[in-house]
Amino acid sequence: MSSIAIDGPAGAGKSSIAKALSKRLGYIYIDTGAMYRAVALFFVENNVSDGTDSRIESLLEKLEISIKYEDGAQKVILNGEDVTGKLRLEEIGKLASKFSAIGSVREKLVALQRKLAQKENVVMDGRDIGTVVLPNADLKIYLSASSKVRAKRRYLELLEKGYTDLDINEIEDEIIKRDEADMNREISPLKQADDAYYLDSSDMTLEEVVSKILSMVKEER
Ligand code: C5P
Repeated sequence: MSSIAIDGPAGAGKSSIAKALSKRLGYIYIDTGAMYRAVALFFVENNVSDGTDSRIESLLEKLEISIKYEDGAQKVILNGEDVTGKLRLEEIGKLASKFSAIGSVREKLVALQRKLAQKENVVMDGRDIGTVVLPNADLKIYLSASSKVRAKRRYLELLEKGYTDLDINEIEDEIIKRDEADMNREISPLKQADDAYYLDSSDMTLEEVVSKILSMVKEER
């Protein structure tokens, strides 16, 4: 099976790029951030406020996450319910970041992600794909962009989804804080894998980034 790993900070355009790439290559796209967001939703629904809660292990046993595809779009199923529409708010991103630092949460999701990549050719995006989940990926990209550009992209994404009352400066502050937490956590911190290509997409269009990565895929073959 072939795999492409895309890691990077929040709002770097990983999802849009991974989606476009998977379409062009005929691979399955796996958004691992959405899985961590679904775990956050599950914990919030069960009134878990942080990683010290003694119920975490037993709750994890009851947690079932799967993904399915509708018209090529990934849907996240949490204990039988499609929660895709509830995952994108920055508040959920922040909670996902908090709960994703818990070892047992990561173990569960990493196992699921590896299983998916064993069955299909995948483009997988996240924070630890090139370093931990798929260390033997055929191509690894570390995608970044300035925090201003990333905040603007997140702002436009949320606006398009119908959210109002958005403050772009607040979004920028929040994603900077979230990246710091993701880069400095003990388990599987966000970092560039030694064999990953660094791409700064601040001044590139989506199509330019996709073309660049497609040319890398050709070189790798
Ligand atoms: O990519 P997204 O912004 O949806 O990810 C939400 C959060 O989930 C990240 O800030 C990070 O803390 C966590 N995450 C992770 N490992 C991944 C994907 C996401 O820790 N592979």
